[in-house]
Amino acid sequence: MKFTPEKYTIEDRPHEPFIDVHEIENFLERPRPSKERIDEIIRKSISKKRLSLPEVADLLNADDPSSVEQIKAGAMKLKEAVYGNRIVLFAPLYVGNKCINNCQYCGFRVSNKDAVRHTLNHDDLIQEVMALEDNGQKRLILVYGEHPMYDADFIADSVRTVYKVKRGNGEIRRVNINAAPLDHEGFKKVKEAGIGTYQIFQETYHPGIYKKFHPSGKKADYNNRLTSLDRAQDVKLDDVGIGALFGLYDWKFEVMALVRHTNHLEACYNIGPHTISFPRIKDALNVNLDQDYSVSDEDFTRLVAILRLAVPYTGLILTARENAALRKEVMRFGVSQIDGGTKIEIGAYAAAKADQHIDKEQFMINDDRSLNEVINELLDNDYLPSFCTACYRLGRTGEHFMEFSVPGFIKRFCSPNAILTLAEYLVDYAPEETAEKGWKVIEKNISELNGHANVPELRSRIEKIKAGERDLYF
Ligand code: SAM
Ligand code: SF4
Repeated sequence: MKFTPEKYTIEDRPHEPFIDVHEIENFLERPRPSKERIDEIIRKSISKKRLSLPEVADLLNADDPSSVEQIKAGAMKLKEAVYGNRIVLFAPLYVGNKCINNCQYCGFRVSNKDAVRHTLNHDDLIQEVMALEDNGQKRLILVYGEHPMYDADFIADSVRTVYKVKRGNGEIRRVNINAAPLDHEGFKKVKEAGIGTYQIFQETYHPGIYKKFHPSGKKADYNNRLTSLDRAQDVKLDDVGIGALFGLYDWKFEVMALVRHTNHLEACYNIGPHTISFPRIKDALNVNLDQDYSVSDEDFTRLVAILRLAVPYTGLILTARENAALRKEVMRFGVSQIDGGTKIEIGAYAAAKADQHIDKEQFMINDDRSLNEVINELLDNDYLPSFCTACYRLGRTGEHFMEFSVPGFIKRFCSPNAILTLAEYLVDYAPEETAEKGWKVIEKNISELNGHANVPELRSRIEKIKAGERDLYF
């Protein structure tokens, strides 16, 4: 079927690139800000306003130890005061690693002849989803290389398959996508399959550096990738995720560009990205990159705190590329989603259940704990693990924005829904020790709702979950 632009209010037009390297560089040349100026910027952020590019540049230039501490404290305050203690959990599911591109940092690149290529067929995919459901997962992100085989129909089909797999009380309630950019018709097809977020990382926003790392294949076209999420917006796929791969170029430039991308989407479509991801390059099969721009743990922590302040109502995703200790540290500054029980080799979830060996992955992960181990640590550290998918399924899109802008939204909806989904996990999947801990955390969180939520109704739904009902939400 041909895409017919006249059906849409925004016409099917080519989009112009919006990153101005010199503009960003000029902002980054601003002098180191005073303590008062940093306080002023933090106050703006805590009042829930997205920061401007000069303000973000000021935070990036504040590199003396006391300013860095001031910024981290500000990010923690924003997180505690506004965001609460929920952490949403998900798992990646790698569907296929065939790839026509030659991204120099990736084990799946076409020139890596040692990579073993696999694509999950229909039955394999079902096996993977069943294994994930058996672990207690409710939210997945499907990941694909870029290949003619993985076109929009293929992606949409796999999404529909995933939603259909039900095992015991298990089901996947939200499927996000991380795949190559599509055209308008393609984005429309995957939206119709019922996806949550479509994630595309620009890798580096610097066009010259981008060219060096993407020498061939479709991904060599910087502008096509940069404007891809504008095409998604054109067909009303408005739930999009952006990201940069840290380590390719100056991390401060990339943070500025992520904020620029955010305000581009807000200005043009009145809705910012749902999430921002900030993967750091990890070792991969036959990859040997120079370390000119590698980001230290200290700078990584700084960049997360600055991003938190820069975009107060955008979800921040931290993946198992980072080790458990660093994840724990960085979470304090306002990460809202993490993966747990992650495996990134094709077919690995089902293979783990059958105790089989499978081939090498795209890159090395550094946190290979099970979902239950991750949940245990969250519970120990006073977080409220959540598998909530309510807003998206009730059509309450832009939920991060609502969390902030609608007074009491978190206590009325987000926390009770986190509690209900955690209760399901505790009843269906948790070992005794985790369950014991989890119910205590639930009680503590209920006591902190302070009359903002309908606690009797929440308690009645918890009892219904104990009695076997599922998928209850506010
Ligand atoms: N093939 C699609 C693409 O490139 O957009 C999507 C899947 S790709 C497997 C997902 C992301 O993994 C890429 O956007 C990149 O940021 C990240 N990635 C690739 N190689 C990596 C590495 N060596 N270390 C960490 N992340 C990496
Ligand atoms: Fe292919 Fe994506 Fe890897 Fe690039 S990052 S080689 S496009 S799988």
